[in-house]
Amino acid sequence: MHRLPQVHRPLPGRRVGDGHGVTHDTDVLVIGAGPAGAVAAWEAKRAAPELDVVLLERDAGVGVPVRCAEGVGDAGLREFADPDGAPWVARKITQIVFVAPDDTEVKVAGRAVAWILDRTRFDAFLAERAVALGAELRVSTEAAGMTCEPDGRWQVRLRGVTGEETCRARVVIAADGVEAMVGRWAGLDTRVPARDMESCAQYVLEGCDFDPDAIYLQFGDRIAPGGYAWLFPKGPGVANVGLGLVALKADGRNARQYLDDWIARRYPRGAKTGSTVGGVIVHTTIRQTYTDGVLVAGDAAHMINPLSGGGIVNAMKAGRLAGRVATAAIRAGDTSASRLSAYHAGWMALLGDDHLKYYRLKRALEDLDDQFFNSLARTANAILPEKRTLRRIFTHALVKHPQLIPVAARFFI
Ligand SMILES: Cc1cc2nc3c(=O)[nH]c(=O)nc-3n(C[C@H](O)[C@H](O)[C@H](O)COP(=O)(O)OP(=O)(O)OC[C@H]3O[C@@H](n4cnc5c(N)ncnc54)[C@H](O)[C@@H]3O)c2cc1C
Repeated sequence: MHRLPQVHRPLPGRRVGDGHGVTHDTDVLVIGAGPAGAVAAWEAKRAAPELDVVLLERDAGVGVPVRCAEGVGDAGLREFADPDGAPWVARKITQIVFVAPDDTEVKVAGRAVAWILDRTRFDAFLAERAVALGAELRVSTEAAGMTCEPDGRWQVRLRGVTGEETCRARVVIAADGVEAMVGRWAGLDTRVPARDMESCAQYVLEGCDFDPDAIYLQFGDRIAPGGYAWLFPKGPGVANVGLGLVALKADGRNARQYLDDWIARRYPRGAKTGSTVGGVIVHTTIRQTYTDGVLVAGDAAHMINPLSGGGIVNAMKAGRLAGRVATAAIRAGDTSASRLSAYHAGWMALLGDDHLKYYRLKRALEDLDDQFFNSLARTANAILPEKRTLRRIFTHALVKHPQLIPVAARFFI
């Protein structure tokens, strides 16, 4: 297996202290080695090889633990890596099956659509690419706080296996995921409304029946209120099976209890061989993703697609943008908020503005009940299987279900 060295290594760059409490200087400090951070470090080194780039990860290894269903779209993934034959791919997906609350299945027609990754290997692969270009990776090292110095550099307190030290950086890229603290330390507002935080639970399930080339998505108030349940195949008979829900809409049960009930009903023969829980922020991008010497990327900046809950490709796109903007600012000798605001503008044009639309659509769909989705599934199944594309389902739905018109209107306004 493709694994990164898991050892503690001294920071590179210029040492300005000695012994206990040593301070190191770097140009770019990336906090968090998920997809956002690894791509940010890679892009920073690619764009400006002469700059020092340090990538921090608080866990002992990159890519573990996995808190993800590991599904990505084909086009987005290919912007960063070629999945054909890659060791970090678990499964190619060629079919999407929507499942209505009453279990009516709707198979969507289409070509190869998605990949199920092996995130442990994929995240390690991304980080290794950054290391190959000269970025310094530090695992088992947590950013524990930071302050801004009079010269505009950030002094970040690091906690690792050998104790505490400090790293001074010209730009900090905060890629610390859903539990993000770094943006807050820099004074940015990263709060999430409770109704836009999904609680997720997932098992790796073995020995159950499904089409290994298809992903299954089921909606319904009794199944996953405010979210949906999924089955993402990792191979024949093995799948990530999970759900996300909005706790405010639940009936007192937590995500794992909903999931246990769903699995007992749909996959009673499945053996649970692994489990995880986690949060997904289904909101819009934070109002400001930058400040003096700081950029926030990926889940930490709420860059997940609020409709699908997918954030891997978005995180990589944000990381790439952050790496580029940070290095250009350092080269220009101006890491002020006004210079770094180009990052926010670039992200909003790329995906952030679309997320505002998806968010409105998500809110509008929340007003529709299970009966509506059951009848929508029957409408969709009346379309010939080979013509049942998402676009055609949507068009038919608008004609047959007039209550969708205000929903669609909210998407476009
Ligand atoms: C159950 C579940 C299922 C999901 N399924 C999918 C899916 O199928 N497809 C999809 O696209 N998305 C999915 N997502 C979302 C996806 O996992 C995230 O959007 C994606 O991982 C975001 O990448 P990131 O780099 O921003 O953050 P992360 O991948 O969370 O990486 C952040 C990293 O920062 C580290 N870190 C945090 N704080 C510090 C610190 N202070 N110092 C040093 N390191 C720190 C963390 O240990 C972590 O490694 C799912 C999420 C959940 C919870």
